[in-house]
Amino acid sequence: MKELLKKLITAKSTLDVGETKCAKVLADFFRAAGIKPKVEVWNKTRANITARLKSAGSKPALLFVSHLDVVPADGPRDFKPTERNGRIFGRGSCDMKAGITAAAVAITEIFQSNVKLKGDIIFAATAGEETDSIGVKKFLKSVKSIPRLIGIVVPEPTNFDLVTAHRGLLWLEITTKGKSAHSSMPQLGINAIDSMRIFLNELADYKIIAPRNKLLGRTTLSVNKITGGCVANIIPDSCCACIDIRTLPGQNHKQIIKDINRIFARLSKHIPRFRADLKVFRDLGALQTDENCGFVRHLKQLLKIKNLKTVPFTTDAPFLTILKTPIVILGPGNPKLCHKRNEYVEIKDLRKGIDLYKRIILHFLA
Ligand SMILES: [Zn+2]
Repeated sequence: MKELLKKLITAKSTLDVGETKCAKVLADFFRAAGIKPKVEVWNKTRANITARLKSAGSKPALLFVSHLDVVPADGPRDFKPTERNGRIFGRGSCDMKAGITAAAVAITEIFQSNVKLKGDIIFAATAGEETDSIGVKKFLKSVKSIPRLIGIVVPEPTNFDLVTAHRGLLWLEITTKGKSAHSSMPQLGINAIDSMRIFLNELADYKIIAPRNKLLGRTTLSVNKITGGCVANIIPDSCCACIDIRTLPGQNHKQIIKDINRIFARLSKHIPRFRADLKVFRDLGALQTDENCGFVRHLKQLLKIKNLKTVPFTTDAPFLTILKTPIVILGPGNPKLCHKRNEYVEIKDLRKGIDLYKRIILHFLA
């Protein structure tokens, strides 16, 4: 169990190197346990891996979907896993190679225990959750081969909280356009930074209309990056701002884009030199699984959990709603450690994760 996690951390899987090494580690692990995995590689570096435990098929299947990729780290040291004080440190230890390890080990232990399952277990670990979600989209293209499901478990770190909802996100890149000139004669140019300032003042008054969500609270908007200009004595001809909007289930992202285009139109009407455009560079829906569905109710009983939780981050789960089955996020690791320096997972939580997934498998499939 610890060995698999350490191998997965060592198999660096940031966007620049891709997921193939990591997929191979898992493929070798499944093969050694007697399970035949399927690895799909594209663009030389990107990869998904799936494995399936076939059953008699009298019950619907259970699907585990993880992501292989990790966010960048400070240096190569972060890909050399270390063990101290009952913890395993390394990039991806928490997000989410501990979850992958727990699910993969649980599945192989169930396989080796020779219990007769009535429904299949499908394991998928996909590419690019942190960037382009390309892996989960590819996986879903094989949707015809996915049988009827009882539910989906996404083993992202939740500290074993049962998570059924998270907000979506809409990332916009706003560019204001100007005209460069010598800054001793600003009247000859159009200052794109000035235009951005005008736009941002308007944006500060913009309220995204969406009712408060009982579990998730409100929509938020923050401007997180501004670039523009090159030197002190040239009027900047371009300025760019990146905006992160976190949205609620059912919220229409197209409406937000329309509203912002309306702000542009209003500004250009009053200020002829104002020019701006907008690019969507990430657009992910929110997740809200019906808390009264059988899958969630059974899980609450099984885990002796009273309250459902949310996570502040997004996952690939909203893509999986196309499978029309309940989705929960549930896994080892503290979500507060995701994407942080010195990320780690408690070794006891790894074991707890394996036992938990085995109990879930046996509850729904045995
Ligand atoms: Zn993650």
